[in-house]
Amino acid sequence: MSHEVPAVPVPRRPGLMSLEQALEQLLGAAQPLGGQQTVATLEADGRVLAQDIRSALDVPGFDNSSMDGYAVNRAELAAAVAAGQALAVSQRIPAGHFGPALQAGSVARIFTGAPLPAGADAVVMQEEVEASLDEQGQGLARFSSVPEPGAFIRRRGEDIRLGDTVLPAGTRLGPAELGLAASLGLAELPVRPRLRVALFSTGDELVMPGEVAPEQMAPGAIYNSNRYFLAVLLKRLGCEVSDLGIVPDRREATLEALRQAAESHDLIVTSGGVSVGEEDHVKPAVQQLGGLDLWQIAIKPGKPFAHGWIARAGQVGQATESAEAGKVGEAGNTAGRCHFVGLPGNPVSSFVTFLLLVRPLLQRLQGVSSGLGIVPVAADGLPPAIFLPAHFDWPRADRRREFLRARLNAAGGLDLFPNQSSGVLTSVAWCDGLVDLPAGRTIARGDSVPFIPMAALLG
Ligand code: AMP
Ligand code: MG
Repeated sequence: MSHEVPAVPVPRRPGLMSLEQALEQLLGAAQPLGGQQTVATLEADGRVLAQDIRSALDVPGFDNSSMDGYAVNRAELAAAVAAGQALAVSQRIPAGHFGPALQAGSVARIFTGAPLPAGADAVVMQEEVEASLDEQGQGLARFSSVPEPGAFIRRRGEDIRLGDTVLPAGTRLGPAELGLAASLGLAELPVRPRLRVALFSTGDELVMPGEVAPEQMAPGAIYNSNRYFLAVLLKRLGCEVSDLGIVPDRREATLEALRQAAESHDLIVTSGGVSVGEEDHVKPAVQQLGGLDLWQIAIKPGKPFAHGWIARAGQVGQATESAEAGKVGEAGNTAGRCHFVGLPGNPVSSFVTFLLLVRPLLQRLQGVSSGLGIVPVAADGLPPAIFLPAHFDWPRADRRREFLRARLNAAGGLDLFPNQSSGVLTSVAWCDGLVDLPAGRTIARGDSVPFIPMAALLG
């Protein structure tokens, strides 16, 4: 089975767009937001670098020993080894201390991280040296062989050179990057402002956990689960989240809530109410306040997806104009707008479409690049998949590209969660990744299938 190109072209239902098409349009309508803040390096986890970080020093800053042992001059050592003589230990250099040049005919006791004395050109690890004292109590060291030039020496600048770009603008900062910045002496870092995201849920059936006890739930009522995972997914991706609760059930109140949220946020995310023919105030309200596209994307779970924008105060003329143009992506200037994303209500669909579409959108708005260039960016915005053997059968092909909830087993294969329905949130909690199954494909036990680890999608 191939991840990239289906062997047989699969006819898609008319009106459905591919994930790649959806992403191209979504990202085409989004520009990285400007601005910059300075934050303490210790507080910068999850933030996005606003500027290249260049090193103001060499790392290591000096040649130093990578072992506890003896700093030697190889030529003198060779002579001593040939003559069967021990060499005097003329100095002791612990880490953090700088010793004088090596005295002729001697070696220096040296410890890991300590600067190499001038005149030394290799380090011999202590396990290979026979140490003793002469009658005057002077340290002696006897060597049995001559090391390679530069043995156990960490050279000045071998990790980073002064002036190197160590972390490019657009890097998402995590523990390793913050440690690296600290190793350059940076106590503060220039980062992009946090993305401000307003989160709404829609649906008369929704009840907030804590407000009604399980045994008191009215018939037809369900707890609002989407709110919880969406808020947390957004926060993990470095957003400042305003949880604005459930969208009011009246047209005017919905308009007002969206208009207000647009003023102080960069993005509004709603869940529910994007299915075809849905009785819902959000879609017409977004249309009225800006522009809206409703997409049917050929993915399962997750088909319906709404994308649009809302004009901020002072931008209403522009909004009306572009709304008449009808298409979200057409108006090039996205300043003065709040982006809008409407996710499906089914929890698994909501979760998966977030990962597939909202995550890349957030990264675009945050100006995230692929950091050191190690992570390839796929056309569909997904992290690279790992190919693993399926320890299950999936005999029914679907016209849509499927993202199956699967789990790595101890035998190095993938197990499938038995219920792949889009309402079963248990499947997401159980899985540790998604099998990315192209449209029209089946899986037979033993097939090598592309698996996208959940961990790669959450950061
Ligand atoms: P909708 O997309 O609004 O038609 O909703 C599809 C399904 O998802 C329905 O069963 C809804 O009850 C359910 N649903 C919608 N919003 C939520 C939510 N916030 N939490 C849990 N389930 C939801
Ligand atoms: Mg609904």
